[in-house]
Amino acid sequence: MNNETCGKCPANCQPLPPFVLPSVFFIFHPANCQLPTANSLPLRIPHFHYLYPPMRLEKNLPELFEFLSTPRKIALVAHTRPDGDAIGSCLALKFFLEKRGHTAEVIAPDDFPDFLNWMKGSDKVFIRQKNPKTCFAILANSDLIGFLDFNALKRIESLGEDIAKIRGKKWLMVDHHRDPDDFTDFTFWSDEASSTCELVYDLIRMMDGDADIDSDMAAIIYAGMAMDTGVFQYSNTTARVHEIAANLMHKGIHVEEIHNNVYNQYGENRLRFIGYMLKDKMQILPEYRTAFMTISMKEAEEYKLSSGDKEGIVNLPLAMKDVDIAVLFTEDKDRIKISFRSKGDINVDRLAREYFNGGGHKNASGGSTRVSLEETVQILHTALAAFLS
Ligand code: 5GP
Ligand code: MN
Repeated sequence: MNNETCGKCPANCQPLPPFVLPSVFFIFHPANCQLPTANSLPLRIPHFHYLYPPMRLEKNLPELFEFLSTPRKIALVAHTRPDGDAIGSCLALKFFLEKRGHTAEVIAPDDFPDFLNWMKGSDKVFIRQKNPKTCFAILANSDLIGFLDFNALKRIESLGEDIAKIRGKKWLMVDHHRDPDDFTDFTFWSDEASSTCELVYDLIRMMDGDADIDSDMAAIIYAGMAMDTGVFQYSNTTARVHEIAANLMHKGIHVEEIHNNVYNQYGENRLRFIGYMLKDKMQILPEYRTAFMTISMKEAEEYKLSSGDKEGIVNLPLAMKDVDIAVLFTEDKDRIKISFRSKGDINVDRLAREYFNGGGHKNASGGSTRVSLEETVQILHTALAAFLS
């Protein structure tokens, strides 16, 4: 890349020769470039778009746009234990595709937290755990299956096995997690993006769809970005995230309402449970600057926790100045689910990937084990000793 014409730009602009810093690869475009990329927001800031060579992947997007030039049946799939970015990105893309004359359904392997129920269309998400036959029929009937907010079929477990059985479909991945598998016909991936909602926003703009983003879609995209950036505070909060947020606000969203819908939905049980976790359950490993907590099924039952009630608890220990890694172990019927969070350069994606059959991002990742809670905690000790040595 790239002394050629950029191909997609209607003005056929000639990008200037790439400018390479040790880890950053800039492609400057001249002022007449009309390519709808990262910096082509209404608020035009310096006119270049930047690529981190191994960190951004666009595979067959012109072919995808061509494929979408006739009405298609599309299934959009979120990952297991879907979060706001997964459900939000699927719903926003669904509404956009419907506006372009396609039919689109959203499928998730299992249920999502209650605090996403305000999102338009959340009541029409098909949950494979509840409705396996309907989900299979939707997938079998579709022309295109989109995988949003994950990048390996194993992340959707038995739903992935269903999909692997169905032949002759086109597959699309839109994702921002590290180390993607190359398994789809069309891919729009970047681990520089704050969220899959940000990538969906970009994809919509690449299809000249800015005007199609209505206030419901804008609220959903904004919420997905807010949730994945810890409400615009983690290191993935780029200037571009704020520019997109501003653009979405121009579409008439109500940020306080969104914040209340997502974050101020605690029942008394949840607040009491957080108190119990911090007072009785949090353990600190000063030698590793790590704090961890465990939630057993019995405790979850005692405090009547829903899946959403456990969200965000993992972050709490990072408020301590002497803690750089926070870990939450959650006991489930058939596994222990582990969440990792870290500060700065500590790469918990690697920790999750190497020791807990998982992955994610540098500062937020997850994994699972099939052994007991106690054994999983033991693995953490061993893993930290090796990981931090
Ligand atoms: P959470 O701790 O909120 O469940 O997940 C944090 C991040 O890690 C999210 O981006 C999520 O998609 C990713 N993640 C969580 N669990 C897993 C897992 O089992 N495997 C992989 N590859 N990623 C995970
Ligand atoms: Mn995400």
